Amino acid sequence: MPTTGENPGKGTYYCKNCGQKVVLDDDSDRLPPCPKCGKTDYK
Ligand SMILES: [Zn+2]
Repeated sequence: MPTTGENPGKGTYYCKNCGQKVVLDDDSDRLPPCPKCGKTDYK
């Protein structure tokens, strides 16, 4: 599963902890820490 700092490519990811949606709309974007809870694991 993707984590903060990785570059998984375009797509929609959800925080594993709180379900916050994070959208990456560019292939060069890296996943940020969750903007809601600060966790780093996504699914
Ligand atoms: Zn979260």
